[in-house]
Amino acid sequence: MSDEKNFELKLLGTGTSTGVPTISCTCATCVSTDPKDKRLRCSALITYKNKNIIIDTGPDFRQQYLKYGINGLDAVVYTHHHFDHIGGFDDIRGINFTSKKALPIYLNTETLENLSRIFSYAFRDYNETGNGIPMVDVNIITEGEIEISGIKITILPLLHGSLKVLGFRIGNIAYCTDTNHIPENTLKLMKGLDVLILDGLRPKVHKTHFNLDQAIEQARIIDSKQTYLTHIAHQVMHSEIEQKLPNGINLAYDGLTIKGRI
Ligand SMILES: [Zn+2]
Ligand SMILES: [Zn+2]
Ligand SMILES: [Zn+2]
Repeated sequence: MSDEKNFELKLLGTGTSTGVPTISCTCATCVSTDPKDKRLRCSALITYKNKNIIIDTGPDFRQQYLKYGINGLDAVVYTHHHFDHIGGFDDIRGINFTSKKALPIYLNTETLENLSRIFSYAFRDYNETGNGIPMVDVNIITEGEIEISGIKITILPLLHGSLKVLGFRIGNIAYCTDTNHIPENTLKLMKGLDVLILDGLRPKVHKTHFNLDQAIEQARIIDSKQTYLTHIAHQVMHSEIEQKLPNGINLAYDGLTIKGRI
């Protein structure tokens, strides 16, 4: 019998904005044959009682949907508007064709403004028929808790350089990509985690992402039982870096599936 409190979070992509391999690059990671060095753009799927909520629809959204045999979507929650997180927005049309209704999306005002600019055709009054546009129901979120398809999600405000972005906590798991600063008030919302998925771009410092050392430091402060680093660049070869990380901190990889409890 399935437990009412169990859910699953699957990482559909764990790569930085270019994906790994980066096209035209011949570095050791980009030519590696290790499946853990193949990283699609960051996204995650939350599955609870046969409901599917996806975090971000990046440029690899369609490929991820097919690769992982996802069966319908009930909602999208967006972290922020950078192209590696929204680039697959137009492919929501496929979901609309089957569901015959608009897909609920949850995002902050800045993400909406940019989505409406980049995919303007989807947000204008539209007279054409033929399902030519992605149809979405817009829900603005900034902080607090939301409930989607029966699952409670706590919004985790983060900074990504100067940009306000969103992380999400579902039960005992938190997902915080694209950040280099977690505000004090957000840290308070991250107590008692079993699993933290955290931005950990590369060894070198970056203006808008935690590098590996900063991510490790943050992980220690947050003190989740287990931390997985994501949004990983090609400067990180999985087999090489994985063995240097402290206990309880590992590199995430595409397809990693984590069991959670709400
Ligand atoms: Zn990103
Ligand atoms: Zn490379
Ligand atoms: Zn970003």
